[in-house]
Amino acid sequence: MPRKGKVYLVGAGPGSPDLLTVKAKRVLGKAGVVLYDQLAGGVRDLLPPGAELIDCGKSGSRHTLEQEEIEQLMVERALAGKRVVRLKGGDPFLFGRGGEELEALREAGIPVELVPGVTSAIAVPGCVGIPVTHRSHASEVVILTGHEEPGKRESSLDWDLLARFRGTIVILMGVKNLASIASGLVERGKDPATPVALIERGLAPGQRVTTGPLGEIGGIAKRAGVKPPAVIVIGGVVSLYREEDLCGAKE
Ligand code: SAH
Repeated sequence: MPRKGKVYLVGAGPGSPDLLTVKAKRVLGKAGVVLYDQLAGGVRDLLPPGAELIDCGKSGSRHTLEQEEIEQLMVERALAGKRVVRLKGGDPFLFGRGGEELEALREAGIPVELVPGVTSAIAVPGCVGIPVTHRSHASEVVILTGHEEPGKRESSLDWDLLARFRGTIVILMGVKNLASIASGLVERGKDPATPVALIERGLAPGQRVTTGPLGEIGGIAKRAGVKPPAVIVIGGVVSLYREEDLCGAKE
């Protein structure tokens, strides 16, 4: 029996290799196998020659079997003694099924090491000057998946509570359902004047910000042709947005 390998669940940050952690870079440099959803330019150069690259792609529309296949591949390679890196966008444990992968690996008795990452939920708004909390605007923040729309039967989210929430609401994967999320919140009593920012392709060359009041943002986004990936921010902190490049994304 070969020595049992290990799986590293690694956060890749919001896209730019500059935002990988020092530890992520070190772990990638020793990887035997890398399973990735998207490989940001520059990450490939960090890998040792001969590392096996497995594209798990199609983020967002992956179904159960494919997820199972990913988990199976990780287990197989680790049992064969490989150092396996599962590279995930942002932080591995904020959406993106990192928690499920951890469970599958635990079940198979594979040693796991987590390398936390810079999450898009905080870094993408931050880079356009929107802090998710601010003493004058919000003392709390909630991060939601936009796959849960208010009209959906048996939504796992409490939309009445969210409409009353006074902190910042950050929504990932929310472009498709933006109009119904915005109208659902307004119908439940959230102020239609609440400012909203949509940040597409944050920290990447095509970064674009669209803003507007909650009551109108659905139509504004449609006319502007807003597309994923984007982070949606709802709340008073959006008033701090300025057209500036705080993260040097355009350098
Ligand atoms: N684990 C990741 C999130 C995975 S869900 C993290 O911590 O960041 C994928 C969603 O993240 C996308 O649909 C989008 O809403 C958001 N996202 C990730 N990178 C982004 C980027 N560079 N710009 C805008 N949105 C991004």
